[in-house]
Amino acid sequence: MNREHEVVSATGRDVLLPTYARADLTIVRGKGCRVWDDEGHAYLDFGAGIAVTGLGHRHPGVTAAAHAQLDALWHASNLYWTEPMLALAELLSDKAGGAHAFFCSSGAEANEAALKVARKATGRTRLVALEDSFHGRTLGALSVTGQPAKWEGFGPLVPGVTFARANDVESLEAAVSPGGDGAAIVLEPVLGEGGVVPLDEGFVHAAEEIAREVGALLWLDEVQTGIGRTGTFFAYEQLGLEPDLVTLAKSLGNGLPIGALLVRGDAAEAIGPGDHGATFGGNPVACAAASAVVRAVDDALLENVVARGAQLRDGLSALPAVEEVRGRGLMIAAVLDREVGPVVEASRDEGLLVLTAGPAPGVLRLLPPLVVSEAEVDRALEILAGVLA
Ligand code: PLP
Repeated sequence: MNREHEVVSATGRDVLLPTYARADLTIVRGKGCRVWDDEGHAYLDFGAGIAVTGLGHRHPGVTAAAHAQLDALWHASNLYWTEPMLALAELLSDKAGGAHAFFCSSGAEANEAALKVARKATGRTRLVALEDSFHGRTLGALSVTGQPAKWEGFGPLVPGVTFARANDVESLEAAVSPGGDGAAIVLEPVLGEGGVVPLDEGFVHAAEEIAREVGALLWLDEVQTGIGRTGTFFAYEQLGLEPDLVTLAKSLGNGLPIGALLVRGDAAEAIGPGDHGATFGGNPVACAAASAVVRAVDDALLENVVARGAQLRDGLSALPAVEEVRGRGLMIAAVLDREVGPVVEASRDEGLLVLTAGPAPGVLRLLPPLVVSEAEVDRALEILAGVLA
């Protein structure tokens, strides 16, 4: 280990605002589905940086695209056009039915943009969201996040938000009905941070119908489910939905910070110069990387997501300590018969990084890179079987 590095990181720990309960692990390198710590230990990364490194660490095509752009232009501002931003907008627009794109640097920022577009385009203020949902930590995104514990100490939040229970159409109707004046219904196709809870097809279709009836926009937060994670490029494709607003971030840049709002249909007409912005939005290096990501998420990769997802779900279901397995594609939760915290720690000791999710104490979340191999899934299952024995 490099001594200088050790000293620097130990000191730095004291001067970081403690917003995260970090594990005692310093990661220095990654390649494919593996990362290495500062003592040279390798880990299978089944968290993918919380659904970010979908193509694995240092994917050759994405790395080459970012390197090439680093050598050409890092930043120009949104006062001008840049080629990487235009190329990415075209790629995403093609995938999302001619959508108009707004670029930013994170999921919360993409959701802030969606919230503003929903209000401006409809002239209404009410937003309907789901209990246990997660949309980000900025005040607008936090206000539509259905987890009251995360609001504590930060109020007053953005007013005009009502919450419905996931997969409960009556509850959704009740949340929309006061005044019938909804600007948008916001849904994660699979609630991620809320416990990996897939929304039923019946529920999402009812939500789409209700939105159309009352003149609200259907806003899908695909920050975690998007870019192939659930087996289709957007999760909404397999649900047969036609959303008005789609938000993306996380794996769009495979680790470089980029978020996007895609506005489908007429809502885009409501937005003009000065309505919204972001200094770093459309950053050339992030956009060049993201275009390489979008091109790499092809049919063969999506087939791998479906096959490896089934393999992982089957393997988890066979473990006696697992009470329920749920999710879509490679966004999977295993509900355990025990506290998940010690399982995460023991897995790490055995060389496997995994995540938790949701309010329940025993939900293990697995989000491996979409490029994960059959052998890597087998190895992860072998480690989990040992830890849960
Ligand atoms: N939306 C969803 C569905 C998420 O899972 C997250 C992050 O976990 C966010 C939004 C917020 O994204 P960010 O942390 O990039 O602001």
